[in-house]
Amino acid sequence: MSAKDTADLSPLLEANRKWADECAAKDSTYFSKVAGSQAPEYLYIGCADSRVSPAQLFNMAPGEVFVQRNVGNLVSNKDLNCMSCLEYTVDHLKIKHILVCGHYNCGACKAGLVWHPKTAGVTNLWISDVREVRDKNAAKLHGLSADDAWDKMVELNVEAQVFNVCASPIVQAAWARGQPLSVHGIVYTPGTGLVKELIKPITGMEDAGALLRADLKQHCFFSESLA
Ligand SMILES: [Zn+2]
Repeated sequence: MSAKDTADLSPLLEANRKWADECAAKDSTYFSKVAGSQAPEYLYIGCADSRVSPAQLFNMAPGEVFVQRNVGNLVSNKDLNCMSCLEYTVDHLKIKHILVCGHYNCGACKAGLVWHPKTAGVTNLWISDVREVRDKNAAKLHGLSADDAWDKMVELNVEAQVFNVCASPIVQAAWARGQPLSVHGIVYTPGTGLVKELIKPITGMEDAGALLRADLKQHCFFSESLA
């Protein structure tokens, strides 16, 4: 079978038409009300994994969530893409919530756990931040089974990326000027479709101060993961 045999986008376009028709049939303003501008309350930062579709997870319509995705739901101040999303949504759209969403069975977190640092490929470079999280938390991962270590790595990675969001100059400046903004750490389970809250909402400098001092215990529902 050649690429030409499989390049036809008709099935996708037909599915799109069906979806658009169904949405418009339920609500005639479904698309027109967001066509000219957007005012989402949420910025979602998540993994690019195909099993995790943010608007679907929360049953949200177009215009309700601004999305930044990458391999491993990483937040780095060296990543202009992520920082641009953060700046645009916080400074201009005035979003109310930043959701950092990890997911169990995350390939990036597994790679960060087990790949050798010299593994070839661009992905290995990208996940170096995951490897750093692993190394900083080696004591918490030590002695766990492979599956438990993978789950723990997912959670530790979310905590680290929440830290990075709170430490960013964009979020720090928003809190300094009194802008209402909360940062959340959540985890999705592909096998159930359910999201759980991993870190209590961080709503300002006071909360963030504790976080930035690595005093995470009081923020976490799953304190055993931070022992
Ligand atoms: Zn992933």
